[in-house]
Amino acid sequence: MSLRFQAISQISDASKVVDVQTTTKVTAIFGENVFTLKVAREYLSDEAFKSLAQSVKGGKKIDRTVANQIANGLKAWAESKGVTHFTHWFQPLTGTTAEKHDSFFTIKSDGTAIEEFDGAALVQQEPDASSFPNGGLRATFEARGYTGWDPSSPAFIMEIGHGKTLCIPTIFISYTGESLDYKAPLLKALEVLNKHAVEVCNLFDKNVTKVTATLGWEQEYFVVDEAMFNARPDLVQTGRAVFGASPAKGQQLEDHYFGSIPERVYSFMRDFEQESYKLGIPLRTRHNEVAPGQFECAPIFEEVSVAVDHNTLLMDIMDRVARRHRLRVLLHEKPFAGINGSGKHNNWSMATDTGVNLLAPGKTPKTNLMFLTFFVNTIKAVKDYSSLLRASIASAGNDHRLGANEAPPAIISVFIGQYLTKVLEDVEQRVGEKFDEQDEAILKLDIHRSIPELLLDNTDRNRTSPFAFTGNKFEFRAVGSAANCANAMTTLNSIMADTLKTFKKEVDGLMEKGEKKELAIMHTLQRYIIESKDVLFEGDGYSQEWADEAARRGLPNVKTTPLALDAMVTEKSAHLFESLGVYSHSELEARHEIELEKYIKKVQIEARVMGDLAINHIIPAAVTYQNSLLENVVGLQKAGLPESSYASQKTILAEISEHIQQVYTLVDAMVEARKVANNLESSRAKAIAYCEEVKDKFFDDIRYHVDKLELLVADAAWTLPKYREMLFLK
Ligand code: ADP
Ligand code: MG
Repeated sequence: MSLRFQAISQISDASKVVDVQTTTKVTAIFGENVFTLKVAREYLSDEAFKSLAQSVKGGKKIDRTVANQIANGLKAWAESKGVTHFTHWFQPLTGTTAEKHDSFFTIKSDGTAIEEFDGAALVQQEPDASSFPNGGLRATFEARGYTGWDPSSPAFIMEIGHGKTLCIPTIFISYTGESLDYKAPLLKALEVLNKHAVEVCNLFDKNVTKVTATLGWEQEYFVVDEAMFNARPDLVQTGRAVFGASPAKGQQLEDHYFGSIPERVYSFMRDFEQESYKLGIPLRTRHNEVAPGQFECAPIFEEVSVAVDHNTLLMDIMDRVARRHRLRVLLHEKPFAGINGSGKHNNWSMATDTGVNLLAPGKTPKTNLMFLTFFVNTIKAVKDYSSLLRASIASAGNDHRLGANEAPPAIISVFIGQYLTKVLEDVEQRVGEKFDEQDEAILKLDIHRSIPELLLDNTDRNRTSPFAFTGNKFEFRAVGSAANCANAMTTLNSIMADTLKTFKKEVDGLMEKGEKKELAIMHTLQRYIIESKDVLFEGDGYSQEWADEAARRGLPNVKTTPLALDAMVTEKSAHLFESLGVYSHSELEARHEIELEKYIKKVQIEARVMGDLAINHIIPAAVTYQNSLLENVVGLQKAGLPESSYASQKTILAEISEHIQQVYTLVDAMVEARKVANNLESSRAKAIAYCEEVKDKFFDDIRYHVDKLELLVADAAWTLPKYREMLFLK
């Protein structure tokens, strides 16, 4: 029996729901596996605690002797919870997380066995990292990188079955200090945003001393049965079903979105939520998504760096917990053709240490002007650096989604809603008119008390915009479901920092010329509104009219990853990131190289898997059925029946033969195209060749013939689980 039929027969057995014991009160377990400052207070001396707290809050360095004390405290806490191993936990550019477990257990020089964890082990480690992507960086410097403790992110205990490991969040850098992970540049971007945002805030309020960017992600994912998953080599190797005819019932009835969550999935959700709560991940919502088998979860928003850690942790947890339920989670952006893909909306804003959300319209004229300042600066940042934002979300998986009729287009535009459009128009129309000190109009901007409610009601209607204002935050919707949000967040916070920096300079300039502060601010905002107007779009982002209009406006519309990534290595990009101290020139080049390599490998693997499935699964199944038809025709002929009695069989035979020929020929030609691509020197040329000469030229065509065969061949002979089985059987 093929794996497909085994999987189908196991479904009713596998559907035995795993019993999950959950506590009724989340607060009873929330953060119990996290070394929070509150826990640290219990386990550390005054000196060590103070040093840790300062480092968490203000990024102060921790010296070696104190590090020893902190390590001891951490070990005592971890041991009290049954932990035997520790690991430096980091986020390499592969997009997943990395760990290398070490035991506390060690042997002293005199042979005695002890449990030990000292400051050195806490602060720095050398993972054997030669196999992490480095874009050529390490080759030119040192052969190895090291992980360095990031005290701003609290240590935590990961439970896997009965094993427990103390995880120390770290950044991953080369010996010469170049970052090799997602986290290090993100922290730099957040710090530089803090600096420039505080300066701008101080134009309005001298009490602001810190601005933190906030992030609330919404994670979409698919769930499939494990046995089905295992019977689909493409899901196992690429996370995507590269073949499969559309089921009779897809998402056209739109009954999944409002439907109840299947019991087995519900149990899985409660289980991973429970694990997440222990790690302090504040998950809040869960629901079905549009496509069958698709779901979403979202936490309460947090500081960006913490939110990023929590999202990567959650992706790990979901994967592990799913296995416990004999399910598999698919985080791929487009696991099933013809069915909605998955994204990860990044809700983003900035908050001051005085408790103000800088993207929430204020209640007084003064706070309104502050809101307007940050609001307009965000739009300006997106306008000036839209290509960089596009590059920050580019991946092979996301290419399937962006621009398809379900996800934001590859054109980066900003949606702000009717009301604020009107406000910006009002401000703009005063250009040329001289504001003078008496002109109260500046302060009487028509943003009054009732706006927040009004906005929340009215703005989130447009789901087709890649970057939408939703009342008190912007929602960057083009981020892919499998992505590490750090990439998008590093770029967004950097371009915002840069825009605010320039804004401050320009306002200062006008004030030096004698303009009153409010006027200087208004004049600068006016200019920004005019300069960035073209990026605003309120209509249907999926329409052809928008693509045409965007082209007229000169907005970039780069549909594929290899070309979208070009924006990373322009002079403009180098200048931006270098002047802010986020990426050096060589770091940018290395990252560009890594992203290209990732793209090439993904497409290469998909192409190989397609070839393998076509030759070893599809054609054999088709031939088996062809033979039985042939026998049938010959038998009918022998029995002396007229030609008309087997005419249909002959038609089917001919069709099957034709599709088999096509599949075979196309796979062969695709292999040749890969060889040509592989021989190209530069990664960019290779990536473009994989995109245009391998993927675009062959993937859809091969699939077309394979999916036709699926519709012709007897169900009993077909070995790969069908869409209807993967999507609906649970
Ligand atoms: P939806 O987009 O589905 O309507 P919500 O309005 O509930 O969802 O919000 C989505 C996410 O936005 C949540 O994670 C929420 O915590 C987050 N969010 C709300 N306010 C902010 C903010 N000021 N900064 C960042 N994220 C925020
Ligand atoms: Mg949303």
